[in-house]
Amino acid sequence: IEGQESDFYLIEASDVGLPKREKFSHKGNFGKVQLLAGSYGKMGAAILCAKAIMRSGAGLLTVHIPREGYTAMQVSVPEAMVTVDEGGEFISNPVVQSDASAICIGPGLGVNESTVHGLLQFLRSVEKPLVLDADALNILAQNPLLLKELPSKTVLTPHVGEFHRLFGECKDGFERLERAQQAAKKYDLVIVLKGAHTAVVDSERVVFNNTGNAGMATGGSGDVLAGIITALLGQGMAASEAALSGVYLHGLAGDYAAKKVGEVSLMASDLLESLPYSIDNVR
Ligand code: AMP
Ligand code: MG
Repeated sequence: IEGQESDFYLIEASDVGLPKREKFSHKGNFGKVQLLAGSYGKMGAAILCAKAIMRSGAGLLTVHIPREGYTAMQVSVPEAMVTVDEGGEFISNPVVQSDASAICIGPGLGVNESTVHGLLQFLRSVEKPLVLDADALNILAQNPLLLKELPSKTVLTPHVGEFHRLFGECKDGFERLERAQQAAKKYDLVIVLKGAHTAVVDSERVVFNNTGNAGMATGGSGDVLAGIITALLGQGMAASEAALSGVYLHGLAGDYAAKKVGEVSLMASDLLESLPYSIDNVR
C-alpha cells in the first residue's frame, strides 16, 4: 500500500504460540477470563464464545449474562461460573472483574439502550487486556470518541460490516486495509479484519491468514473466534500474538470440521469440536 511502511506477512504454523502446560501447573496458571455477552434471543452467541474460551485452555471463566440466560448457560457450559446482571433480557450493568486476566465483550450483546449506557461506563473504566466483538463494536461505532480511551493493544474483531460502521465505508479491500492500519496506529489497537483471508493489523504490520474455508460463513463462527483469542490473551500471550494464533487455530478447526461434515453442513459448534485437533496440530 502506497505511503505505508508496514510490512505484510502470512501466518504459518510455526508462528502460532500456545501457553505451555507444565506438569505441576494448576488452573491459576492459565488465566481468569471474564466474558460479557448475550441477550434475549442471542444467548447462543454467549454460549459458543464461552465454550471456545474453555476449549482454548483458559484456567477459569466467569460469564456475565442477563438473568434470563442463567439456566441455558449453566446447563450448556457447566465449566463456567456465572454472574447475573440486573437486566432480565439485556446486560445493563457490566462490572469489571478485578482479577480478570482478559475480558471479552460483545457476542450476542444486543444494542439495547441500557446495554449501550452500561458498556460506555465499563469501557471508560476498564484497564485490562480486552477483546471487543460484535455488538460491542457496533456500540463503539456509535461512540467513536471512546476509541482513544481503550486500553492499548485492545483487540477488535470486526467483519466487513462492523469495520465499516466503525471506521467508515471503504471502496475495496485495499482501502479497508489502509484504514485499518491507520486506526491501529492512531489508537494503538490490534484489528482483526475478518473475512475469507482475515488480516491481523497492528501498529507495525499486517499478517494474513490462509487457514479456513467458506463453510465458516455461518452464524456463530465469529463468536468462537473471539473466545479463542480471549483465552490466549488471558493466558498471558501478547495481544498481536494471541490474535494471530487465534485466527490461525480457528481457521484450521474450520478445515478439520469441513473434512468431517463438509462446508455446507458446517456449523459453529463443529468448530468447537475440531478445535482440539487444530490445537494439537500446532503443539
Ligand atoms: P462473524 O461474521 O462474526 O460470524 O465471523 C465469521 C468468521 O468466519 C470469521 O472468523 C471469518 O474469517 C470466517 N469466515 C467467514 N467467511 C469465510 C470464508 N469465505 N472463508 C474463510 N473464513 C470465513
Ligand atoms: Mg460476529
